[in-house]
Amino acid sequence: MSILVTGGAGYIGSHTVKELRARGEQVIIYDDLSTGFYQAAQDCMLVVGSLHHYDKLVETMRAFDVDSVVHFAAYSQVGESMNDPGKYYYNNVAGTIKLLNAMKENNVKRIVFSSTAATFGEPDSVPISEETPQHPASVYGTTKLMIEKILRDYDAAYGIRSVALRYFNAAGADESGLIGEAHNPETHLIPLIMQVLLGRREHISIYGTDYPTPDGTCVRDYIHVTDLATAHILSLNALRDGMASTAYNLGNGNGFSVREVIGMVEKVTGRKVATVEGPRRSGDPAVLIASSEKIMRELNWKPKFNELEQIIASAWRWHESHPYGY
Ligand code: UDP
Repeated sequence: MSILVTGGAGYIGSHTVKELRARGEQVIIYDDLSTGFYQAAQDCMLVVGSLHHYDKLVETMRAFDVDSVVHFAAYSQVGESMNDPGKYYYNNVAGTIKLLNAMKENNVKRIVFSSTAATFGEPDSVPISEETPQHPASVYGTTKLMIEKILRDYDAAYGIRSVALRYFNAAGADESGLIGEAHNPETHLIPLIMQVLLGRREHISIYGTDYPTPDGTCVRDYIHVTDLATAHILSLNALRDGMASTAYNLGNGNGFSVREVIGMVEKVTGRKVATVEGPRRSGDPAVLIASSEKIMRELNWKPKFNELEQIIASAWRWHESHPYGY
């Protein structure tokens, strides 16, 4: 029996693969390497394939006796999703339908799905719980919400049970120093700040200083990637134990502004970060903070890295030793 991890060569996927294997699980990565890196797969079995290669998905599941899927493979850039919605609906939504149909054909009945805080859009209040209404403000968030709905329907009709994990801001890197965050192009705050320190960019642009927050910049809930990985394992094990389909929000429950993140990077590295104040980035809500009470209560999940300082220190270790990524 083995676990198929789609997108396992990506940032959160590769960290989850590492944690699964550390617990003795048989893992097969399925990744088209369009945004992932083969180096992130480390020495794990890697099948290079797209979600659109239906026959390859079916064959891979059959060949490796797959009985569970952890599904990360997706495009995930909010800005790009607004400019090229077709790419997002086709890959994320249509691709997931093919994956689910391949599961159905192979009688694979469990899936842990990578969802996002972007399914909530601009919330009326924080912290955001599972009861908070989901009104995504981007095509990316809409694709993930559509998949959550499709998963519920596939459970009702075909008995495929799922857990949707809605991540807030994933950050940090594995303790081994071997895998970490790498995107091309990079759009995320913490890696971009690191690139400034590494001399790869002149400054970090602060996107908006007139938000209704204490220092005028956006507030986000940063959660360590290894804590996200652990949540996938707990979810998979709960599905194995017969848990009904559900969804969980995943964050630390603390908000930090863009200026606070920059200040923390300066504290951790002892270096000054050059900043430029710029306009807001469209689609950015002012404040996103998770309530993760539900997964804490039901699955006993507890973040190990609950200090921003630890998260940033782990990110810096990775970026300093891999200034150009993999
Ligand atoms: N941000 C910024 N400058 C950048 C990149 C991001 O000020 O160059 C801000 C962004 O507006 C948001 C926060 O940093 O408030 C986190 O953004 P990121 O893209 O890392 O994650 P997101 O919140 O979009 O998932």
